[in-house]
Parts: sequence; structure tokens; C-alpha cells
Amino acid sequence: GEATPRDLGALRDGLLAAPQVVAAVESIPDAAAREALGLPEGAIDLVADLAARLAAALTDRPPALAREGGIVREGFDAALDEAKRLKDRGSDAMIALEGELREASGIPSLKVRYTRVFGWYAEVTRSHAAKVPPTFRRKQTVAGAERYTTDALDELQTKISEAEERFSTREAELFAGLLGEASARADRVRALSERLAAWDVAAALADVAHRRDYCRPEVDDGDVLALDDARHPVVEQLAAGGRFVPNDVTLDLEAERMWIVTGPNMAGKSTFMRQTALAAILAQMGSYVPAKHARVGVVDRVLSRVGASDNVSRGESTFMVEMRETANILARATRRSLVVLDEVGRGTSTYDGLAIAWAVAEHLHDAIGCRTLFATHYHEMTELTEGARHAANYSVSAREHDGDVVFFHKVVRGAASRSYGVAVARLAGVPEGVLARAKAILASLEAGGALPSGRHANLRGRSATGAAQLDLFVPAVSVAPASSPALDTLREVDVDRLTPLDALQLVAKLKSLL
Ligand code: ATP
Repeated sequence: GEATPRDLGALRDGLLAAPQVVAAVESIPDAAAREALGLPEGAIDLVADLAARLAAALTDRPPALAREGGIVREGFDAALDEAKRLKDRGSDAMIALEGELREASGIPSLKVRYTRVFGWYAEVTRSHAAKVPPTFRRKQTVAGAERYTTDALDELQTKISEAEERFSTREAELFAGLLGEASARADRVRALSERLAAWDVAAALADVAHRRDYCRPEVDDGDVLALDDARHPVVEQLAAGGRFVPNDVTLDLEAERMWIVTGPNMAGKSTFMRQTALAAILAQMGSYVPAKHARVGVVDRVLSRVGASDNVSRGESTFMVEMRETANILARATRRSLVVLDEVGRGTSTYDGLAIAWAVAEHLHDAIGCRTLFATHYHEMTELTEGARHAANYSVSAREHDGDVVFFHKVVRGAASRSYGVAVARLAGVPEGVLARAKAILASLEAGGALPSGRHANLRGRSATGAAQLDLFVPAVSVAPASSPALDTLREVDVDRLTPLDALQLVAKLKSLL
């Protein structure tokens, strides 16, 4: 009972199109395909009675609001047509009356017009005011003109209003009747529309699979999720000139079930992880998948934590949201789940974050034992594989060239050697001065702050306290502002541009300056 005339128009158009859709599906030659599309043995109820009724009753483009009028087609209802004739006749009579009033008053510029508030009136410009006959009654004064009414005008106005009233009352009645007829058939319409919607989805998936070269996945009860040359269905479309780099992945409950994925920022870790999860979902919903070959051992759920969608409006910080999602994943994951975790722990201090990431990965690996992709910036995490039998290191390749980083987007076996964070910061336009300082701090951290290898030594060796964090920045504050020829020379050096030979000569020079 709440549909608008436009809604009914859309319902009519949909119902009128349905027979063609059904005919198209019925004409599919492959019986198995027809069956897969759920084509029943008998005829499909096209709700043709309602379609015919709405087609006869509604105008081509019914209005958005019922009170706008113009809902019902001419010729559908005699009473409505009669009211319309009276309405139109009233308008014609008004035009005739305008002529009569002009003649009677001798004012050729007299106009009969209508406003919603004041109704009909005859308007005379102020310069002709003297000629206005006494039968005219003043109704309203406007800038430069007076508006009048007469008995004849009032009478006609009443007639027109009555006709309009009759028209809209009748149209509202008819509209309510149509709504009733439609809602009485709601179940049948719903059944038909569900069928059409399912076909629409199937057709869209078939279309995309065909045009973008997806493969038909093997879906089984096995322990493996294996994709060859998999792509991300959306990023692939956005990557310019077909330059998307496909990647393989194999997660096997009995073998490598956890991939620790490292690699520089912007290398494509998130894309890789998302495309794997999407492939599993697409395969299990019955779609083809963007890959050359896909085998999906059924997963009971895909649990993911990707991207930093904070929820500050709900009073939760980025880290809080991250931890809440992580907690939810740990609570719900089973051995048959696919878990995709991107950068867990990055929302907090380095050691806290690393410690949490490590513990979460360990729990997924040892206790839950599900198939997992775990992307991280913490290179220390790659040492987890030393003690975790089912975990392996993979990385998204990149190379630095003249201070710029080149991404290959290819997932390869082995841990990433570096993170190129400073090079990516340069790409993003961080000022050179800041970059140089970051490099110096990085070098000092790398010299003194490397974590000892060995799984647990990693975390036990340092307490995850603020003190450990502060230590990192000691070099930053303790650089003496002293000046000496050696120091000045050193300050001027652009380390990026030094060849090994230059460096050697520089050391010799510094030594002699000292
Ligand atoms: P960060 O660590 O900064 O979150 P990331 O490694 O997760 O980065 P993504 O967000 O996955 O990187 O990818 C960065 C961009 O690289 C994407 O927006 C996309 O344009 C491009 N990209 C990712 N994967 C591929 C690929 N396989 N082929 C081509 N381009 C890719």
C-alpha cells in the first residue's frame, strides 16, 4: 500500500519484460544449464493478469508522487475521463471569459490568470485602472497592477475546482485499487522476481567470466586452496593497460597452510591477500574465478582483517577496531576457515605490535591450524617459520633503483630483504630533508637495534616497554651540534650518490682531517 505511481510503473515494466527473459532461458539448448538455472518443468507464473491490468491503467511515465496526478491512462475509466473533460472545458471557458472581460472593459491588455493561493483573477495594469467597470471587485494589489474578480469568474472558478476535485478523487480511488490489486499478488510477484534476480546474477557472472577470462574452479572437500595466475577482479580492471601481475598461491592444511607475506609498502600485499579471499568466495558461490586454474577445498568462512577502517564515530580508535576484529577472528576461526590478516598490530608501538602479531600468528598456526595469509611489515615475523612447521615466508618483490623503488608485484618464495619505506615515502612526496633524516635514523637503528634471530629470543630479549621505544631515538637527540672540518665534510656528503670507491676516499679524507 506504500508504493508510488512510479513504483507501479516500474513493476509494470518489469512484468512486461519477464516473458522475454523466461523465453530466453527456456531456449538455452543445454538441458543441464536449464536445470542449473532452476527452470521448472511446468510454466512459470508471469503474473500476466497484473501486468495486463497495470499496462492498461497506468500512463507511460507515472509521477513520483500520487498527488501530482497523471497516473491513469485516458480510456481506462469512464468517470475519470468525464471529470477530465469538465476540467478541460473549464480551462477553455476561462479563455473565452478573458475575451469577454476585455471587451466589456475595453482593456485589451486584461489577463485572466491563476495562482495557487488566490485562485483565478483578472489582472489590469495600473494605467488602465480608471476603465475598470463597477462589476469588477478588487481582490489583490500587486506592483503596477490590480487583480479583480467578477461573478462570472467566481462561478467558473467553482466549476473548475469541482471538476478538478472530482478528477483527483477518482484518480486516487483508481490508484488505491491498483495498489490493492498489486499487493494481493505480492507473493506471486516476489516468486517471479526472485527467479529473475537469480538469473540476473548468473548472467552477470557468466558475462564477466567470459569477457575477463576467468576459469571454472574445482571445488572439493580437500585441504588445499590453490590458485594459478590469480588476479584481483577489481584492481585488474583499474591497472592501466593490462599491466596487472597475476600471482600463484597454494595453502595446504597438511603442508604450508600459513603464508607470512612481507614486502614493501605499495608492493601489492593487500591486493594479493584480497584476491585470494575473493577467489574462495567466488568459487563457493558458484562463480568462475579470475585465475588460470583454481582449486578450492571448501572453506567454512573467510575471516579477514584488512585496511584501517577506523570507527572514531563509535568512540573506538584504529587500534581498538583492529584488536576487536582480530579477537573476533580468533574466536570464530576453525581449521576449515580461510583467514586473511593484513598488518595486525601496526596500530600500536613497535614491540607491542610485533608481540601481538607474533602471538596471533602462532595461535592461528598451532591452535587453530587454518589456512592463513598473514601480511606484515615486521620483518622479525619471518623468523616465525623457523619454529612453525606449516608456515612459510613469501614476499612481494621490489627493487630500489637510484633511490626510487620499482615494484614487480610478484609474490615469490622467501622473506623480503628490506622494506623500502623511505623510498616509498619519497614517491609520496615527503620532503628530501625529512627523508635524509629518516635514512640516518634507520641506519643507526639497523646498526644497533637488529633483533637477534631465534624465535623466542626475539621477544624475550627486549621488554616491550616505552623505554625500549625511547632507546630507538637516542641517536636522534645525542648528535652533538659541534663543528669541526671532519664533521662539516661528513654533513655535506650525499650518501646516496657515493660509489664504494668514493666512500673509501672519503674515509681517507676524514681521517686526515681529524
Ligand atoms: P601497504 O603495505 O602500503 O598497505 P600493499 O603492499 O598492501 O601496500 P596494495 O595496496 O596491495 O599494496 O597495492 C598497492 C597498489 O599496487 C595497488 O593499488 C595497485 O594499483 C598496485 N598493484 C597491487 N598488486 C598489483 C598487481 N598484482 N599487478 C599490478 N598492480 C598491482
